[in-house]
Amino acid sequence: MIIVMKAESTKKDIDHVLDSVEKAGLKGVLLQGTNRNVIAIIGDERVVPKDFWDVLPGVEKSVPILAPYKLASKEGKDFKTIIHFNNGKKIGGDHIAVIAGPCAIESKEQIIEIAKRVRDAGATALRGGAFKPRSNPYTFQGLKEEGLVHLARAREVSGLPIVTEVLTPEHVKLVSKYSDILQIGTRNMQNFLLLRAVGESGKPVILKRGMSATIEEFLLAAEYILAQNNPNVILCERGIRTFETHTRFTLSLSIVPQLKEMTHLPIIVDPSHGTGKRSLINPMSKGSIAVGADGLLIETHPEPEKSFVDGPQTITLESFDELMQELKPVAEAVGRKI
Ligand code: PEP
Ligand code: MN
Repeated sequence: MIIVMKAESTKKDIDHVLDSVEKAGLKGVLLQGTNRNVIAIIGDERVVPKDFWDVLPGVEKSVPILAPYKLASKEGKDFKTIIHFNNGKKIGGDHIAVIAGPCAIESKEQIIEIAKRVRDAGATALRGGAFKPRSNPYTFQGLKEEGLVHLARAREVSGLPIVTEVLTPEHVKLVSKYSDILQIGTRNMQNFLLLRAVGESGKPVILKRGMSATIEEFLLAAEYILAQNNPNVILCERGIRTFETHTRFTLSLSIVPQLKEMTHLPIIVDPSHGTGKRSLINPMSKGSIAVGADGLLIETHPEPEKSFVDGPQTITLESFDELMQELKPVAEAVGRKI
């Protein structure tokens, strides 16, 4: 942290800042310029919030040097996080992970059929919602625990790891019992008690970006999970709210290379929620891989028009097969495998 003093600041102001730095257990070094005085703080500046310094008498501004999300940040770390599953599948590294399945689990037969088909097409994991976060309370809310039981059966049959959403801290234990990866939905990205609870569960977590969250807020949300000693966080871009109404959300693909500069965590893209349109899933999936995404989350269903939830953005199992074939050369072109 660098603290820039106002031109008119007094010796008393400077001494007060230096004193506060020392009280925080840090070291302050005064750099006297011709017009301005600057105080450099040595030590982990993140123990004190930035606005603490900004309001001290005589301070013009403070400039942080370290990212506030210290565990999520790439700073000082020379590794990339890779999440490994028992069956040899992984998320992160050279392989592109493709997680596919219906928005919601509708029946045992439905999820088992989808599991087998997406596995045969080369998917890494199976997704399916049992607890659904719906904007409208009168719509289908998911099969809840019954859905989790079907999902566990689909895992047994297909051998695929499973991903499902958890909505509340009270459900973390139950959902963890069945699922290999917990999903935090966009509407819960800043549900801090839930973030702590999934952190404590020790399960890998797919953290979806809040639809209005900045990149810094997104990484700070990941930090909540990492801070519980859970290193297995996968970031997921799923579209943000903008003025545009042609697509359901605006898929912000520039976040992928931007996050790669900032964090060691894997980042996947969900073009299904990001566009809301079946016809855009194939091109946006290719685009996601081209810009460096570590994986995709794709809604698939045998008969999307009969899907209980999110039919318009869901692709058929045949389209999923084709997509997987078409993604191969794109992955190869950017030095990855699928
Ligand atoms: C989902 O994955 O089905 C879902 C509800 O996603 P989001 O939280 O991104 O809307
Ligand atoms: Mn959905």
